[in-house]
Amino acid sequence: MKLAELQELESRWVMQTYARMPVEFVRGEGARVWDSDGKRYLDFLAGISVCSVGHCHPAVVEAVRAQVGTLTHTSNLYLTEGGVRLAQRLCESSLGGRAFLCNSGTEANECAIKLVRKHAHGRGISDPEILVLEGAFHGRTMGSLSATPGLSTNESFAPYLPGFRAVARDDPDGLHAAVGERTAAVMLEPIQGETGVNVVPDELIAAAREACDAAGALLLFDEIQTGMGRTGSLWAYEQLPARPDVMTTAKALGGGLPVGACVTTPETAGVLEPGDHGSTFAGGPLIAAASLGAFDVIDDPELLRRVRDLGGRLCDGLESVDAIADVRGRGLMVGARLEEVDAKHAASRLLAEGLIVNPIGEGTLRFLPPLVIGEAEVDEALEILARTLG
Ligand code: PLP
Repeated sequence: MKLAELQELESRWVMQTYARMPVEFVRGEGARVWDSDGKRYLDFLAGISVCSVGHCHPAVVEAVRAQVGTLTHTSNLYLTEGGVRLAQRLCESSLGGRAFLCNSGTEANECAIKLVRKHAHGRGISDPEILVLEGAFHGRTMGSLSATPGLSTNESFAPYLPGFRAVARDDPDGLHAAVGERTAAVMLEPIQGETGVNVVPDELIAAAREACDAAGALLLFDEIQTGMGRTGSLWAYEQLPARPDVMTTAKALGGGLPVGACVTTPETAGVLEPGDHGSTFAGGPLIAAASLGAFDVIDDPELLRRVRDLGGRLCDGLESVDAIADVRGRGLMVGARLEEVDAKHAASRLLAEGLIVNPIGEGTLRFLPPLVIGEAEVDEALEILARTLG
């Protein structure tokens, strides 16, 4: 089918909630994807940090292939080993409590919101409040949307859930002062991905931990984008001055397939009880097989060290591109602010040159390459950027 024909069908049959780039991808391998004309691209977005093991990694492909012909779904009314093993792997590699598996990032946050609210009710708070940061993005379902200050002002979807308040992301004292008797949790992304790769200052993370401890509130990290090795440690919080009580993750967790998780410490592991939460598809054997395959690839000290090294190489190279004003991020989660160049226009030109990157806002390009890339791919991306933007 010709691209123009596909575009016409899409506009006729698909709800028009996305402004899609004019390209149809048909195949992927590692950090490369190919379009329907056979043109090859270097993918520095990886499905928005989903394909961190690269496209069609053999460990994921083989695991899924074996599982899809054995057992794909039974519902959560019965036991299957994969989901249990995945929960074990998630908890043993992070907070040590229990995990609730789900199908996406926003669902992981819905689970976390319910958990911290119930925890607050258990402390006698009848009207709990969750503090979130300005510039946060937590998802598109009503709870996560209500926790997303930049989107919950859109009157078309009002009324939003009450019980969320946004505070500045660069004011530790302000955050400390905002935590009070009604606070159920402080909810934050260690690095805000969707609104520009904004690294939350260590001082704010430390203040959030201290204030939550003093108030008996929970610290909730949304590691949906930062988790699974993206920043050069399995979980971003490992490089921060504080550990959360509850963590959500998704995106790269499924090796390209849809899965999410809400993970607790041992202390918060029993908050949600039978009947409190559920999901038909969640934690099924197929998704668990893919996810365990992705874990085997990413939970590797050598790979994580390379993510930190390559992140440094990418940042250094970006800094020397004339059109780039500043570079921020950690590991292979990088944002570059452009000077006098529109980011959308730049991303279109880069796509034409065979490099996939993501424009966020008017002035920033976001880079989220697969974590399995090498130096040659970083240098190739930098060469395309310098040539195209220079
Ligand atoms: N939280 C963060 C930090 C995200 O980056 C995203 C997605 O971009 C979400 C939540 C929502 O995840 P999903 O789109 O899988 O629902």
